Amino acid sequence: MTPLPDPDDLADRIRKGERAALSRAITLIESTRPEHRAVAASILDRLAPDTGDAIRIGVSGVPGVGKSTLLDAFGSMLTAEGHKVAVLAVDPSSVRSGGSILGDKTRMARLAVDADAFIRPSPSSGTLGGVAAKTRETMLLCEAAGFDVVIVETMGVGQAEVSVAEMVDLVLLLMLAGGGDELQGIKKGILEVADIIAMNKADGDNARPARAAASEIRSALNILAPRSAAWTVPVLAVSGMTGDGLGELWSEIERFRDIHRRDGSWDDRRAEQRVRWLWTSLDEGLRRRILSGARWRAEIAAGEAVVREGERAPSAVAEAILDRLGLPTEPTDTS
Ligand code: GDP
Repeated sequence: MTPLPDPDDLADRIRKGERAALSRAITLIESTRPEHRAVAASILDRLAPDTGDAIRIGVSGVPGVGKSTLLDAFGSMLTAEGHKVAVLAVDPSSVRSGGSILGDKTRMARLAVDADAFIRPSPSSGTLGGVAAKTRETMLLCEAAGFDVVIVETMGVGQAEVSVAEMVDLVLLLMLAGGGDELQGIKKGILEVADIIAMNKADGDNARPARAAASEIRSALNILAPRSAAWTVPVLAVSGMTGDGLGELWSEIERFRDIHRRDGSWDDRRAEQRVRWLWTSLDEGLRRRILSGARWRAEIAAGEAVVREGERAPSAVAEAILDRLGLPTEPTDTS
Protein backbone atom coordinates (compact mmCIF):
# COMPACT_ATOMS: atom_id res chain seq x y z
CA MET A 1 0.00 0.00 0.00
CA THR A 2 1.29 3.48 -0.80
CA PRO A 3 2.06 5.58 2.27
CA LEU A 4 -0.32 8.39 3.19
CA PRO A 5 0.73 11.73 1.69
CA ASP A 6 1.77 14.67 3.83
CA PRO A 7 -1.23 17.06 3.86
CA ASP A 8 0.95 20.21 3.76
CA ASP A 9 2.88 18.97 0.78
CA LEU A 10 -0.19 17.83 -1.13
CA ALA A 11 -2.01 21.11 -0.36
CA ASP A 12 0.99 23.09 -1.67
CA ARG A 13 1.11 21.13 -4.86
CA ILE A 14 -2.62 21.57 -5.40
CA ARG A 15 -2.22 25.35 -4.95
CA LYS A 16 0.40 25.26 -7.69
CA GLY A 17 -2.14 23.60 -9.93
CA GLU A 18 -0.46 20.19 -10.14
CA ARG A 19 -2.97 17.83 -11.62
CA ALA A 20 -1.46 14.67 -10.19
CA ALA A 21 -1.78 16.18 -6.70
CA LEU A 22 -5.38 17.20 -7.38
CA SER A 23 -6.28 13.71 -8.55
CA ARG A 24 -4.54 12.15 -5.57
CA ALA A 25 -6.48 14.31 -3.13
CA ILE A 26 -9.77 13.54 -4.89
CA THR A 27 -9.01 9.83 -4.58
CA LEU A 28 -8.55 10.35 -0.84
CA ILE A 29 -11.87 12.18 -0.64
CA GLU A 30 -13.62 9.34 -2.44
CA SER A 31 -12.01 6.66 -0.31
CA THR A 32 -14.07 4.90 2.33
CA ARG A 33 -11.04 4.26 4.58
CA PRO A 34 -11.11 6.43 7.70
CA GLU A 35 -7.36 7.23 7.52
CA HIS A 36 -7.77 8.48 3.94
CA ARG A 37 -10.77 10.56 4.92
CA ALA A 38 -8.76 12.10 7.76
CA VAL A 39 -5.94 13.20 5.44
CA ALA A 40 -8.52 14.50 2.94
CA ALA A 41 -10.22 16.53 5.67
CA SER A 42 -6.95 18.10 6.74
CA ILE A 43 -6.04 18.98 3.15
CA LEU A 44 -9.46 20.59 2.67
CA ASP A 45 -9.01 22.55 5.86
CA ARG A 46 -5.63 23.87 4.74
CA LEU A 47 -7.03 24.84 1.34
CA ALA A 48 -10.22 26.50 2.60
CA PRO A 49 -8.74 30.03 2.32
CA ASP A 50 -7.78 29.31 -1.30
CA THR A 51 -11.32 28.49 -2.36
CA GLY A 52 -14.28 30.65 -3.30
CA ASP A 53 -12.99 32.50 -6.35
CA ALA A 54 -14.70 30.30 -8.91
CA ILE A 55 -18.14 30.60 -10.32
CA ARG A 56 -20.02 27.41 -9.44
CA ILE A 57 -22.59 26.33 -11.97
CA GLY A 58 -25.00 23.42 -11.58
CA VAL A 59 -26.27 21.94 -14.84
CA SER A 60 -29.20 19.58 -14.97
CA GLY A 61 -31.60 18.08 -17.45
CA VAL A 62 -32.92 14.64 -18.34
CA PRO A 63 -30.58 12.11 -20.00
CA GLY A 64 -30.45 12.82 -23.73
CA VAL A 65 -31.11 16.54 -23.37
CA GLY A 66 -27.57 17.12 -24.62
CA LYS A 67 -25.62 17.96 -21.48
CA SER A 68 -22.36 16.31 -22.54
CA THR A 69 -22.44 17.82 -25.99
CA LEU A 70 -23.23 21.26 -24.61
CA LEU A 71 -20.65 21.13 -21.83
CA ASP A 72 -17.99 19.98 -24.25
CA ALA A 73 -18.67 23.00 -26.48
CA PHE A 74 -19.32 25.46 -23.66
CA GLY A 75 -16.26 24.39 -21.68
CA SER A 76 -14.06 24.61 -24.77
CA MET A 77 -15.40 28.09 -25.53
CA LEU A 78 -14.49 29.19 -22.00
CA THR A 79 -10.97 27.72 -22.02
CA ALA A 80 -10.36 29.44 -25.36
CA GLU A 81 -11.25 32.70 -23.59
CA GLY A 82 -8.65 31.97 -20.90
CA HIS A 83 -10.77 30.28 -18.24
CA LYS A 84 -9.89 27.09 -16.44
CA VAL A 85 -12.90 24.81 -16.36
CA ALA A 86 -13.66 21.82 -14.14
CA VAL A 87 -16.63 19.57 -14.86
CA LEU A 88 -17.75 17.27 -12.05
CA ALA A 89 -20.65 14.87 -12.21
CA VAL A 90 -23.19 13.78 -9.64
CA ASP A 91 -24.88 10.65 -10.85
CA PRO A 92 -26.94 8.86 -8.22
CA SER A 93 -27.47 5.94 -10.59
CA SER A 94 -23.73 5.31 -10.60
CA VAL A 95 -24.14 4.41 -6.94
CA ARG A 96 -26.18 1.44 -8.04
CA SER A 97 -24.46 0.59 -11.29
CA GLY A 98 -20.93 1.19 -10.06
CA GLY A 99 -20.06 3.87 -12.60
CA SER A 100 -21.35 5.69 -15.62
CA ILE A 101 -22.10 3.51 -18.58
CA LEU A 102 -20.16 5.77 -20.90
CA GLY A 103 -16.92 7.10 -19.52
CA ASP A 104 -16.95 10.87 -19.05
CA LYS A 105 -13.85 11.18 -21.21
CA THR A 106 -15.72 9.91 -24.23
CA ARG A 107 -18.77 11.99 -23.37
CA MET A 108 -16.72 15.21 -23.55
CA ALA A 109 -14.05 14.39 -26.07
CA ARG A 110 -12.72 17.90 -26.70
CA LEU A 111 -12.64 18.97 -23.09
CA ALA A 112 -11.00 15.69 -22.06
CA VAL A 113 -7.83 16.60 -23.96
CA ASP A 114 -7.92 20.30 -23.07
CA ALA A 115 -5.01 21.31 -20.79
CA ASP A 116 -7.19 23.96 -19.15
CA ALA A 117 -10.02 21.60 -18.33
CA PHE A 118 -10.51 18.92 -15.72
CA ILE A 119 -13.26 16.31 -15.92
CA ARG A 120 -14.17 14.05 -13.05
CA PRO A 121 -16.91 11.41 -13.19
CA SER A 122 -19.35 10.88 -10.36
CA PRO A 123 -18.04 9.13 -7.25
CA SER A 124 -19.43 5.64 -7.48
CA SER A 125 -19.99 4.69 -3.90
CA GLY A 126 -22.25 5.93 -1.17
CA THR A 127 -25.70 7.42 -0.84
CA LEU A 128 -26.80 10.46 -2.82
CA GLY A 129 -25.87 12.53 0.21
CA GLY A 130 -22.44 10.92 0.29
CA VAL A 131 -21.90 11.43 -3.43
CA ALA A 132 -22.94 15.06 -3.10
CA ALA A 133 -20.56 15.57 -0.17
CA LYS A 134 -17.62 14.17 -2.13
CA THR A 135 -18.51 16.26 -5.16
CA ARG A 136 -18.65 19.39 -3.05
CA GLU A 137 -15.25 18.68 -1.58
CA THR A 138 -13.83 17.93 -5.01
CA MET A 139 -15.23 21.26 -6.20
CA LEU A 140 -13.31 23.07 -3.46
CA LEU A 141 -10.07 21.29 -4.37
CA CYS A 142 -10.53 22.32 -8.00
CA GLU A 143 -10.96 25.94 -6.93
CA ALA A 144 -7.79 25.80 -4.85
CA ALA A 145 -6.03 24.39 -7.92
CA GLY A 146 -7.01 27.51 -9.89
CA PHE A 147 -10.11 26.45 -11.79
CA ASP A 148 -12.29 29.54 -12.05
CA VAL A 149 -15.36 27.90 -13.56
CA VAL A 150 -16.63 24.77 -11.83
CA ILE A 151 -19.55 22.98 -13.42
CA VAL A 152 -21.43 20.34 -11.46
CA GLU A 153 -23.52 18.20 -13.74
CA THR A 154 -26.40 16.08 -12.45
CA MET A 155 -27.40 13.08 -14.41
CA GLY A 156 -30.48 12.16 -12.48
CA VAL A 157 -33.60 14.15 -12.02
CA GLY A 158 -35.28 15.17 -8.81
CA GLN A 159 -33.39 14.83 -5.57
CA ALA A 160 -29.97 15.11 -7.20
CA GLU A 161 -30.84 18.57 -8.55
CA VAL A 162 -31.75 19.75 -5.12
CA SER A 163 -28.49 18.48 -3.62
CA VAL A 164 -26.54 20.20 -6.36
CA ALA A 165 -28.44 23.46 -5.95
CA GLU A 166 -27.12 23.45 -2.39
CA MET A 167 -23.50 23.56 -3.50
CA VAL A 168 -23.54 25.90 -6.49
CA ASP A 169 -24.07 29.61 -7.13
CA LEU A 170 -26.60 29.09 -9.87
CA VAL A 171 -28.44 26.29 -11.62
CA LEU A 172 -28.77 26.01 -15.37
CA LEU A 173 -31.62 23.79 -16.50
CA LEU A 174 -31.50 22.32 -20.00
CA MET A 175 -34.78 21.40 -21.63
CA LEU A 176 -36.08 20.20 -24.97
CA ALA A 177 -38.97 21.51 -27.01
CA GLY A 178 -41.87 19.07 -27.27
CA GLY A 179 -42.24 15.85 -25.35
CA GLY A 180 -44.05 17.69 -22.59
CA ASP A 181 -40.74 18.47 -20.93
CA GLU A 182 -41.80 22.08 -20.33
CA LEU A 183 -44.85 21.18 -18.32
CA GLN A 184 -43.14 18.26 -16.62
CA GLY A 185 -40.48 20.61 -15.37
CA ILE A 186 -43.04 22.98 -13.97
CA LYS A 187 -44.93 20.15 -12.30
CA LYS A 188 -41.88 18.56 -10.76
CA GLY A 189 -40.77 21.83 -9.29
CA ILE A 190 -37.43 21.52 -11.07
CA LEU A 191 -38.04 24.95 -12.50
CA GLU A 192 -38.06 26.28 -8.97
CA VAL A 193 -34.35 25.71 -8.53
CA ALA A 194 -33.40 26.91 -12.02
CA ASP A 195 -31.73 30.32 -12.29
CA ILE A 196 -31.27 30.11 -16.05
CA ILE A 197 -33.19 27.89 -18.47
CA ALA A 198 -31.94 26.89 -21.90
CA MET A 199 -33.97 25.11 -24.56
CA ASN A 200 -31.28 22.95 -26.11
CA LYS A 201 -30.90 21.55 -29.63
CA ALA A 202 -32.22 24.78 -31.13
CA ASP A 203 -30.70 23.99 -34.52
CA GLY A 204 -31.92 22.97 -37.98
CA ASP A 205 -35.62 22.14 -38.11
CA ASN A 206 -35.80 22.30 -34.36
CA ALA A 207 -34.67 25.94 -34.11
CA ARG A 208 -38.12 27.40 -34.53
CA PRO A 209 -39.97 25.00 -32.13
CA ALA A 210 -37.21 25.55 -29.55
CA ARG A 211 -37.67 29.31 -29.69
CA ALA A 212 -41.44 28.92 -29.44
CA ALA A 213 -41.04 26.63 -26.42
CA ALA A 214 -38.67 29.13 -24.83
CA SER A 215 -41.24 31.86 -25.10
CA GLU A 216 -43.94 29.52 -23.73
CA ILE A 217 -41.83 28.82 -20.65
CA ARG A 218 -41.10 32.51 -20.26
CA SER A 219 -44.84 33.18 -20.04
CA ALA A 220 -45.40 30.25 -17.69
CA LEU A 221 -42.67 31.62 -15.41
CA ASN A 222 -44.33 35.01 -15.41
CA ILE A 223 -47.39 33.40 -13.86
CA LEU A 224 -45.38 31.78 -11.08
CA ALA A 225 -44.34 34.16 -8.35
CA PRO A 226 -40.75 35.27 -8.91
CA ARG A 227 -38.27 33.91 -6.38
CA SER A 228 -36.26 37.09 -6.30
CA ALA A 229 -36.98 40.69 -7.14
CA ALA A 230 -33.48 41.11 -8.53
CA TRP A 231 -33.55 38.31 -11.07
CA THR A 232 -35.99 37.23 -13.76
CA VAL A 233 -35.07 33.73 -14.94
CA PRO A 234 -33.95 34.07 -18.56
CA VAL A 235 -35.09 31.38 -21.00
CA LEU A 236 -32.64 30.98 -23.87
CA ALA A 237 -32.54 28.88 -27.03
CA VAL A 238 -29.14 27.21 -27.49
CA SER A 239 -27.45 24.42 -29.40
CA GLY A 240 -24.54 22.49 -27.97
CA MET A 241 -24.01 21.03 -31.41
CA THR A 242 -23.64 24.28 -33.38
CA GLY A 243 -22.59 26.44 -30.44
CA ASP A 244 -25.43 28.88 -31.08
CA GLY A 245 -26.44 30.80 -27.99
CA LEU A 246 -23.49 29.68 -25.87
CA GLY A 247 -21.98 33.18 -25.81
CA GLU A 248 -25.29 34.57 -24.65
CA LEU A 249 -25.50 31.81 -22.04
CA TRP A 250 -22.15 32.87 -20.57
CA SER A 251 -23.22 36.53 -20.58
CA GLU A 252 -26.33 35.62 -18.61
CA ILE A 253 -24.23 33.67 -16.10
CA GLU A 254 -21.94 36.67 -15.65
CA ARG A 255 -24.93 38.98 -15.33
CA PHE A 256 -26.38 36.71 -12.65
CA ARG A 257 -23.07 36.81 -10.78
CA ASP A 258 -22.69 40.58 -11.05
CA ILE A 259 -26.22 41.34 -9.86
CA HIS A 260 -26.03 38.96 -6.92
CA ARG A 261 -22.55 40.03 -5.90
CA ARG A 262 -23.68 43.62 -5.84
CA ASP A 263 -26.71 42.99 -3.64
CA GLY A 264 -24.79 40.67 -1.29
CA SER A 265 -26.88 37.58 -1.93
CA TRP A 266 -23.96 35.79 -3.61
CA ASP A 267 -21.94 35.71 -0.39
CA ASP A 268 -25.06 35.13 1.73
CA ARG A 269 -25.97 32.06 -0.30
CA ARG A 270 -22.48 30.64 0.09
CA ALA A 271 -22.39 31.33 3.82
CA GLU A 272 -25.77 29.62 4.17
CA GLN A 273 -24.49 26.65 2.17
CA ARG A 274 -21.47 26.34 4.46
CA VAL A 275 -23.68 26.36 7.53
CA ARG A 276 -25.90 23.67 6.02
CA TRP A 277 -22.76 21.73 5.19
CA LEU A 278 -21.62 21.89 8.78
CA TRP A 279 -24.93 20.37 9.85
CA THR A 280 -24.79 17.67 7.22
CA SER A 281 -21.28 16.79 8.34
CA LEU A 282 -22.37 16.72 11.99
CA ASP A 283 -25.28 14.41 11.19
CA GLU A 284 -23.05 12.16 9.19
CA GLY A 285 -20.28 12.20 11.81
CA LEU A 286 -22.66 11.40 14.65
CA ARG A 287 -24.06 8.46 12.76
CA ARG A 288 -20.64 7.20 11.82
CA ARG A 289 -19.10 7.58 15.26
CA ILE A 290 -22.01 6.42 17.37
CA LEU A 291 -24.34 4.23 15.39
CA SER A 292 -21.60 2.10 13.87
CA GLY A 293 -20.41 0.77 17.24
CA ALA A 294 -20.99 -2.95 17.84
CA ARG A 295 -23.32 -2.41 20.81
CA TRP A 296 -25.44 0.02 18.86
CA ARG A 297 -25.56 -2.23 15.86
CA ALA A 298 -26.88 -5.06 18.02
CA GLU A 299 -29.48 -2.85 19.69
CA ILE A 300 -30.62 -1.45 16.36
CA ALA A 301 -30.85 -4.90 14.79
CA ALA A 302 -33.03 -5.99 17.73
CA GLY A 303 -35.14 -2.84 17.32
CA GLU A 304 -35.57 -3.56 13.61
CA ALA A 305 -36.85 -7.05 14.43
CA VAL A 306 -39.36 -5.60 16.87
CA VAL A 307 -40.80 -2.98 14.51
CA ARG A 308 -41.06 -5.50 11.69
CA GLU A 309 -43.70 -7.29 13.77
CA GLY A 310 -45.80 -4.13 13.81
CA GLU A 311 -46.74 -4.36 17.51
CA ARG A 312 -44.73 -1.35 18.66
CA ALA A 313 -44.39 2.20 17.39
CA PRO A 314 -40.95 2.75 15.77
CA SER A 315 -40.57 6.13 17.47
CA ALA A 316 -41.07 4.55 20.91
CA VAL A 317 -38.65 1.73 20.09
CA ALA A 318 -36.08 4.32 19.00
CA GLU A 319 -36.46 6.21 22.27
CA ALA A 320 -36.10 2.96 24.23
CA ILE A 321 -32.87 2.11 22.39
CA LEU A 322 -31.46 5.57 23.09
CA ASP A 323 -32.37 5.18 26.77
CA ARG A 324 -30.82 1.74 27.05
CA LEU A 325 -27.59 3.00 25.54
CA GLY A 326 -27.45 5.71 28.15
CA LEU A 327 -28.07 8.83 26.08
CA PRO A 328 -29.65 11.52 28.25
CA THR A 329 -33.22 12.48 27.33
CA GLU A 330 -32.33 16.17 27.53
CA PRO A 331 -29.12 17.96 26.62
CA THR A 332 -26.91 17.89 29.72
CA ASP A 333 -25.61 21.41 29.27
CA THR A 334 -28.81 23.44 29.29
CA SER A 335 -27.55 25.99 31.85
P1 GDP B 1 -26.82 13.88 -22.30
O1 GDP B 1 -27.35 12.52 -22.02
O2 GDP B 1 -27.72 14.92 -21.71
O3 GDP B 1 -25.40 14.04 -21.89
O4 GDP B 1 -26.92 14.09 -23.89
P2 GDP B 1 -25.82 13.96 -25.04
O5 GDP B 1 -24.96 15.16 -25.09
O6 GDP B 1 -25.16 12.65 -24.92
O7 GDP B 1 -26.73 14.01 -26.32
C1 GDP B 1 -27.77 13.09 -26.57
C2 GDP B 1 -28.05 13.01 -28.06
O8 GDP B 1 -28.50 14.25 -28.55
C3 GDP B 1 -26.81 12.67 -28.88
O9 GDP B 1 -27.21 11.80 -29.91
C4 GDP B 1 -26.36 14.00 -29.42
O10 GDP B 1 -25.70 13.86 -30.67
C5 GDP B 1 -27.66 14.74 -29.58
N1 GDP B 1 -27.46 16.19 -29.36
C6 GDP B 1 -26.83 16.74 -28.31
N2 GDP B 1 -26.81 18.08 -28.40
C7 GDP B 1 -27.46 18.39 -29.55
C8 GDP B 1 -27.78 19.64 -30.19
O11 GDP B 1 -27.46 20.75 -29.73
N3 GDP B 1 -28.48 19.55 -31.34
C9 GDP B 1 -28.86 18.37 -31.88
N4 GDP B 1 -29.55 18.41 -33.02
N5 GDP B 1 -28.57 17.19 -31.31
C10 GDP B 1 -27.88 17.18 -30.16
